Amino acid sequence: MSANHAWIHRDLSALWHPCTQMKAHEHFPPIPIARGQGSWLYDFDGRRYLDAIGSWWVNLFGHANPIINERLKTQLDTLEHVLLAGFTHQPVIELSEQLIARTPPGLTRVFYADNGSSGIEVALKMSFHFWQNQGQAQKTRFIALANSYHGETLGALGVGDIPIFTQTYSPLIHPAFIAPAPDCQQAEAGESCSEVTQRALAGMRALLEQVADTVCAVIVEPLVQCAAGMKMHEPAYLTGLHALCDEFSVHLIADEIAVGFGRTGTLFACEQAAITPDILCLSKGITGGYLPLSAVLTTEPIYQAFYVDAPARRAFLHSHSYTGNPLACTAALATLSIFDSQDILARNRRRMAQIDTWLEPFRAHPHLAQVRRCGLIVAMDLVDGAGQPYPRAEQRGQRAYRHALDHEVLLRPLGDTLYWMPPYTLDDEEWALLLRVTLDAVHAATKG
Ligand SMILES: *Cc1c(COP(=O)(O)O)cnc(C)c1O
Repeated sequence: MSANHAWIHRDLSALWHPCTQMKAHEHFPPIPIARGQGSWLYDFDGRRYLDAIGSWWVNLFGHANPIINERLKTQLDTLEHVLLAGFTHQPVIELSEQLIARTPPGLTRVFYADNGSSGIEVALKMSFHFWQNQGQAQKTRFIALANSYHGETLGALGVGDIPIFTQTYSPLIHPAFIAPAPDCQQAEAGESCSEVTQRALAGMRALLEQVADTVCAVIVEPLVQCAAGMKMHEPAYLTGLHALCDEFSVHLIADEIAVGFGRTGTLFACEQAAITPDILCLSKGITGGYLPLSAVLTTEPIYQAFYVDAPARRAFLHSHSYTGNPLACTAALATLSIFDSQDILARNRRRMAQIDTWLEPFRAHPHLAQVRRCGLIVAMDLVDGAGQPYPRAEQRGQRAYRHALDHEVLLRPLGDTLYWMPPYTLDDEEWALLLRVTLDAVHAATKG
């Protein structure tokens, strides 16, 4: 580390990093990043890292994107922030209109928060409050899927089912009912993915038959349960789930925080099932990875249940200081404009077809199982020579991470699941590097 960047060493005496056992930094200190450009992050020693996970699934069009930068600079000199209670501004109005136009038909209102978890809190409160306003006071519970992840605030943890995040805090959590996941990876011998779908829908029906009276909503991560290890399911599951929610009079909340904005091949994952959820949560890629923002869209019937002359407690009372921040809305508008001007969805579809051929050596690899792709999410699991998962303590995924970092690629696996969730802007050469380094990392992580 260059001496003129001595401040870097002060990190460990002042910061507490997210999702991190800080003591581990005694051996592997955090990597200081000096700047970003396109798909690359650069440190202070002239080393660079291909950002193959879009900086935690947020970056869509590269770092220091000239189009987003330009719009933000202009907005910065116009209006940086104003409260959204009693006031409004052009970027938030334009963004709301565009989100309504681009999301599935029937979503007519947009509520804002400033990160994914807060968006989930909004969705849960909105659904619960709707039923209260309808006189259905007994509806106080939610249904979530096994392995689900919806963020880490207390309400969001209540609809989560990943023990490492939820277990410690369980005394503070209002737990959801858990329904079976439709994850195609759990197919039993001889079982097809569509049989897994039907089995999961049958499980959901059985649960609804028991508890629907007390349930406000079912919450789902459409098509890919990302944090659980990129577990993928069929669009048919969502179609079936939507029908069940209608039949049992519970809301369907679609959490597209990770999968929205083109990640699964369509602008929104729900499109592939031709459904409109009652509530749709968006965040992460919404600003192209620039600024925190989340949007919660809902339907006219839900909105109208709050729209009355009567008491204040019928109104939806939820607020964040930075609700609808103009800079964040401007970054979102610039991001949406790039989808149009560069025909991103069509470009991504061509990439997806190429990736399927590039994946052949991965599918044939003896130490990889479940090589899978949904849109521009690709994932694969490290396995031992007998095709079995490694003991967790061996930290094979961590070995792959370190190997890739030493070879210019930022992978950050989820346990022993390696995945790519890169910006949409990787060129042929960058893809080639990603493929080569991932294969090498698999080799390095599985030998011995
Ligand atoms: C990341 C994520 C969240 C939480 O978003 P934060 O901005 O990290 O709070 C919620 N749901 C899903 C599906 C996510 O991937």
